[in-house]
Amino acid sequence: MKGLETHPVLNRNSEMPLLRPEVLDRLQRPLKDLRLSVIDRCNFRCSYCMPESSLKGDSPFLPRAQLLTVSELSRLVRAFASLGVHKVRLTGGEPLLRQDFIDIVAALREVPGLKDLSMTTNGVLLPKLAPALKQAGLSRITVSLDSLDKDVFARMSGGRGTPDRVLEGISAASAAGFTRIKINCVVHKGVNDHTVMDLVEHFRGSGHIVRLIEFLDVGSSNQWRREHVVAGNEWLQRIHARWPLEPLSESQAGETAERYKYRDGLGEIGLINSITRPFCGACCRVRVTANGTLYGCLFSAKGTPLQPLLTGNSDDAALSAFIQDFWRRRTDRYSETRHLLPVNAGRQEMYRMGG
Ligand code: SAM
Ligand code: SF4
Ligand code: SF4
Repeated sequence: MKGLETHPVLNRNSEMPLLRPEVLDRLQRPLKDLRLSVIDRCNFRCSYCMPESSLKGDSPFLPRAQLLTVSELSRLVRAFASLGVHKVRLTGGEPLLRQDFIDIVAALREVPGLKDLSMTTNGVLLPKLAPALKQAGLSRITVSLDSLDKDVFARMSGGRGTPDRVLEGISAASAAGFTRIKINCVVHKGVNDHTVMDLVEHFRGSGHIVRLIEFLDVGSSNQWRREHVVAGNEWLQRIHARWPLEPLSESQAGETAERYKYRDGLGEIGLINSITRPFCGACCRVRVTANGTLYGCLFSAKGTPLQPLLTGNSDDAALSAFIQDFWRRRTDRYSETRHLLPVNAGRQEMYRMGG
């Protein structure tokens, strides 16, 4: 077929190997993962994502009527799945603020070809919702937790929530049957870096996986400066000096985290070093905002609206063809070129784009 590179792919769900085309971008990266935002609102005001001071004036959030409905989300994911996307991560904003979030999970679970449906959450609503999420078919959960120190946590979250409430959320998810929960910690130098080792120690041996994330220059409201970043390699040295580590191989191509296991068998950690060790070369992620705007990169300034194809008379094939064409023209590799660009040059906020 014109415009499609063809690679043999083994379909694990069928007994026979299946030849299915992969959709490649201009840098030969296959389209594989979808980060799907379902809402841009949040019950936190994290300093590195949605600082309160940036929200003054008119509501910066999408009117609820503009959020994609369950059936639109389902149609969208079907289109991505038809192009080889088997992993979808639901995000936001805070996805659990969507009243119909369980319905979204249940609907997406039905999409043929979708193998992995996960979510990222700040965790505070998990005590209420974890059992229903499990029952609806969610595969995996990532919970964000930047510090166990309540003052540091408050500084990072804009005074919303507490570490204890997030820990309760993690316990609830665990009790509901979610295993190997990923714990995302954004490290902001001078704010929470002195509490990182405590966080790592707390989860060592728990079965959950701490991932230390370099503070990113996403959006334009978080006052990012290069001096605010602690290189992931520093954590690697410090953690290894205390609890010896050894590298794990990539479990999937295009993985964002560099993974290490503790030599004593007490689990693993991940380092997401987007600033110091960019991984654009294998980036196979596409993003769609809560109102259906498509982005090829977390740092894209401009998106491509899919709404007309979701709400109009256009059919599923037209939607798939449009997305395929978009991906084929993709050249994004922002993290590899950020040093050549001005800081905060009109980029979207993470809570709009979906983290
Ligand atoms: N509200 C949910 C949460 O916080 O888990 C989901 C959305 S949030 C935008 C997704 C992830 O992006 C979180 O783990 C958050 O820590 C991360 N994030 C947000 N802003 C970031 C930044 N400036 N640098 C690095 N990670 C960031
Ligand atoms: Fe909300 Fe998540 Fe952004 Fe924090 S990181 S403000 S919890 S969307
Ligand atoms: Fe992918 Fe853009 Fe991040 Fe590079 S900067 S890894 S292209 S999302």
